[in-house]
Amino acid sequence: MKKKVTVIIDGREISAAAGEKLLFVALDHGIYIPHLCAMRDDKRPEASCRLCFVELEGGSGPVTACTLPAADGMVIKTRSPRVDRLVRTAFELLLSDHRLKCGSCPANKNCELQRIARARGFKLRYGRFPYLERERPADESPASFGFDRSRCVLCGRCIREDRRAGGPGAIGFAGRGLQRRVSTCEDLPLAESPCNECGRCVSACPVGALYWKDGHATANGGRL
Ligand code: SF4
Ligand code: SF4
Repeated sequence: MKKKVTVIIDGREISAAAGEKLLFVALDHGIYIPHLCAMRDDKRPEASCRLCFVELEGGSGPVTACTLPAADGMVIKTRSPRVDRLVRTAFELLLSDHRLKCGSCPANKNCELQRIARARGFKLRYGRFPYLERERPADESPASFGFDRSRCVLCGRCIREDRRAGGPGAIGFAGRGLQRRVSTCEDLPLAESPCNECGRCVSACPVGALYWKDGHATANGGRL
């Protein structure tokens, strides 16, 4: 059994397993920290969404909670003017490459972007950074699910789940910068890739980019 340590998050004293990432310690105790890319089982967190910043007492600046291992006596604040500025900017940048049409989205009311907006008082609309409109047709080739790239936030959860499924690997990241995308080998439709439609990627998606065709919501809204 892992050694227990005591950490203080937003003034609450919490007992946690030593080394457990602060993001999950907080979430397990009902303290919400915005996040999109983190998964509990990640050995090396990607920290790519830049949303889970917190202040660590004695630290030199905000740090990502998904990479911060719990240690005895740690004092954390989930909000500060610096943290709030960083999270707002990361969120607005994400939205600038996201087709916002919640009313017709399969993730509506079960979406991590909506949850972040609610929790932090952000408006779900384009602000400082205008929408980068571009052609990204959905891939509806699998029998049971679809993939709409215009809603993808590039969190990479689907790719990690695809790896964990243990098959040959159907999807990965391709391209750089604005061309970065979740893709099959040679950008083939999913139905022509090694995908066997196990659905783990759909369940891992925190937004409406991967969705079941029969309309049922993912079991956990993508929260793993
Ligand atoms: S993914 Fe979320 S924020 Fe984006 S359109 Fe769908 S419900 Fe709205
Ligand atoms: S399809 Fe969903 S899970 Fe995969 S990278 Fe995009 S947003 Fe993340």
